[in-house]
Amino acid sequence: MTTNGRGKIIVLLGAPGAGKGTQAQRLRERFCLPQISTGDILRSIAREETDLGRQVRRILEAGDLVSDEILADVVRARTGQTDCDGGYILDGFPRTVTQAEMLDGLAGEQDRDIKAVYVRVLRDELMRRLTSRRICPMCNTIYNLVTRPPKHDGICDLHETPVELFHRVDDNEEAVAHRILVWERETKPVYEYYRACDRLATVDGARPVDEVFGQIREAIGLQE
Ligand code: AMP
Repeated sequence: MTTNGRGKIIVLLGAPGAGKGTQAQRLRERFCLPQISTGDILRSIAREETDLGRQVRRILEAGDLVSDEILADVVRARTGQTDCDGGYILDGFPRTVTQAEMLDGLAGEQDRDIKAVYVRVLRDELMRRLTSRRICPMCNTIYNLVTRPPKHDGICDLHETPVELFHRVDDNEEAVAHRILVWERETKPVYEYYRACDRLATVDGARPVDEVFGQIREAIGLQE
């Protein structure tokens, strides 16, 4: 059994826009743990001109969930890579109880504990954040036009040659409202799933980013 956050599977739960991706990027940078964002993986699959790519693209654009079977394959393949040997961070997975059960099976095979952290944010704030979110297609760094704008309009701060930020097709008001509904229906039960077995900590995602990061580190027992 591990005594701190290292070696564990860290699951970041929260509605779209709660800051899971931002916090997962911080954990990755500070603790050298791989950040596995199923949304990022699916967006790259959606760019492929294959049957699977087209199928995933339609689902992402509608703001619906991709099937549990596809997710099981994606997560099993990614977490089997050697960079996951010291534990990893899941951002956006599991999103259904079936996926949570699948992850329990995988954790058993990999001999790892799971610690889930729920980043809680109210609905109006989620909508405000998502409609002003911009992302770098190269490094997936997340910006916000209001709270964390890039230094130069529309350009990622982190590359020598300019890389233009993009606005996700599912970050418009209509798709966001739908994604929040899907989250309440499908993903809230996942939070209950982890709470019932005492594997869940809740942090206040409305606090400043650094403070939320501190709360998450404390919850999962990750020290320097
Ligand atoms: P995200 O970047 O986490 O907001 O995910 C973007 C989109 O990818 C979601 O709206 C879903 O369509 C899809 N997606 C990401 N993760 C999952 C998952 N665990 N299960 C099903 N669909 C997912």
